[in-house]
Amino acid sequence: MPARVPTPGAPGRARRVWFVCDVLGVACAAGTWVLVLGAAGVLLRTRLLPAGDAAYGLAHGALFHLLAFLALAAHARAMLTDPGSVPRGGAPGGPRCALCGCARPPRAHHCAVCGRCIREMDHHCPWVNNCVGEGNRKHFLLFTLYTALGSLHLLLLLGVPALRGYARGDWDSRSTVTPRASLVFLLLVALKGFLFGSAMFAAQMRAVCSDRARTEQLQGERAGPGGGSKWVNLKAVLGHRPSLAWISPFASPRPQRARAPLRVV
Ligand SMILES: [Zn+2]
Ligand SMILES: [Zn+2]
Repeated sequence: MPARVPTPGAPGRARRVWFVCDVLGVACAAGTWVLVLGAAGVLLRTRLLPAGDAAYGLAHGALFHLLAFLALAAHARAMLTDPGSVPRGGAPGGPRCALCGCARPPRAHHCAVCGRCIREMDHHCPWVNNCVGEGNRKHFLLFTLYTALGSLHLLLLLGVPALRGYARGDWDSRSTVTPRASLVFLLLVALKGFLFGSAMFAAQMRAVCSDRARTEQLQGERAGPGGGSKWVNLKAVLGHRPSLAWISPFASPRPQRARAPLRVV
């Protein structure tokens, strides 16, 4: 049974420390950090520093490390933020979850890993060791966005010269240590990150703009006739007004509206 570490406080007022004690999830989340930090270190040591071009190294190093930092910050927020857990117990009457005993509100679904009902549960993601739901959807969306962008930057930075070098039969000779191994490692990390990030980002944007979490899509639920436009739904997740806070993993949007209940079709 996973354990969480909530601190007392009224929902929406006091911040709660949230961590799911799932061995597989912790291993996957730690692996994500190891891959990103490892790629940043290998890129710096074997590609940028040996290049001997300060401007080239500074520009690409700063861009990649900025994207990696934002991705990891969003990852940490997605992992350590309450995804929208429904308190156990609650007022008597109404539908109750047979598994955790909470008074289940509309659009909440039970997660077997978290052991709780989660509002607007999208899915349980082992890579962030947490559910993706009402409380952390923005952070997960940014994690996938920055993962895709950082991986794309790495693919273009290394993939194009590598293909040219391979065509000439000349692998990059500027690296000081095992150039082929480091290049293959970086390209594999970039390819995996780009495929994962872009696919998950597209899926999340579809869910956000349609105001239907993937759990709701899979179970044949759809928003009622009172659902907003795509723009309204996007603002409900990212924040009321477009600003830099939309792309900041450190900004937490305020609750925007009470959404229309879903109905089964
Ligand atoms: Zn439940
Ligand atoms: Zn979960």
